[in-house]
Amino acid sequence: MSLLSVVVPCYNEEENVSFFYEELMKVQDFFSERQVELEVLYVDDGSRDNTVAEVKKLREKDGRVHLVSFSRNFGKEAAMFAGLENAQGDYVVIMDVDLQDPPSLLPEMYGYLQEGYDSVATRRVSRKGEPPVRSFFARMFYRLMKKISRTEIMDGARDYRLMTRQMVDAILSMQEYNRFTKGIFGWVGFRTKWLEYENIERAKGETKWNFWKLFIYSLDGITAFSTVPLMLASVVGVVFCVLAFVMILFIIIRKLLFGDPVSGWPSLVCIILMTSGVQFFCTGILGQYLAKTYMEVKKRPHYLVREKL
Ligand code: UDP
Ligand code: MG
Repeated sequence: MSLLSVVVPCYNEEENVSFFYEELMKVQDFFSERQVELEVLYVDDGSRDNTVAEVKKLREKDGRVHLVSFSRNFGKEAAMFAGLENAQGDYVVIMDVDLQDPPSLLPEMYGYLQEGYDSVATRRVSRKGEPPVRSFFARMFYRLMKKISRTEIMDGARDYRLMTRQMVDAILSMQEYNRFTKGIFGWVGFRTKWLEYENIERAKGETKWNFWKLFIYSLDGITAFSTVPLMLASVVGVVFCVLAFVMILFIIIRKLLFGDPVSGWPSLVCIILMTSGVQFFCTGILGQYLAKTYMEVKKRPHYLVREKL
């Protein structure tokens, strides 16, 4: 027998917990026929509703249901990390509890692992049901990442991914505090099969992400997997030096040929505003990386457990 661990991060998802369980159990026969046992590991990310109680109810009925409950909300990244750390399985899959990651894909995904792939990843090919502004910026983010990062980060990639134990251990060996799992998956490599599906709207409840949260998350992604912005400061610096040199030549020659009529206050102000803007921007970039380094150096735990069953 081998074991498949299903890791499910939950934050205020009382309506979805048992609904998800029922949907998942629809594929249970497929796996038991193939000598694969299931375990379901709900990671409660500091929910303030009855999520924990719902999981405990399931656990009374079915001993294969496990719970790790955080002392507060640490974010989905921390929840996924805790799930991977606590999963016992030979295979591990990460799934959202809102059924946006359809369990019906699991048999097909498992099939690819048997063919020799180390991981089977999923991506959405459409973003229907999402606000257009959000989709637009999401696309921009992936386009930018493709240019500035050497790590492969797929547009529309989800965290829904089935992995072998070997790949899970590789991911766990990356202990960084600022986690951006979509990048970490790409960074560790291994043979990955991509499955595509149409976006599915969440079963019940509401999304935990708003535009601002996603924007901050995208900055995490950039600082975690690219140092190109840091180089930007040097490039801009060089460009400005060249410009300054040309200007100096121009001014000297003009002075020699035409004398020096005192004028040019507006252009001077524009130049000062522009260069100080660029300077602030570059200092801001430095600040971003410094802040990340600061958090990294503190070596705080990724999450704190309040209860574990
Ligand atoms: N989630 C979490 N911690 C958070 C936010 C979300 O564990 O701080 C979980 C949530 O319960 C869900 C998954 O992450 O299972 C995806 O969240 P959501 O559906 O809100 O995101 P979306 O699908 O809209 O991107
Ligand atoms: Mg969702």
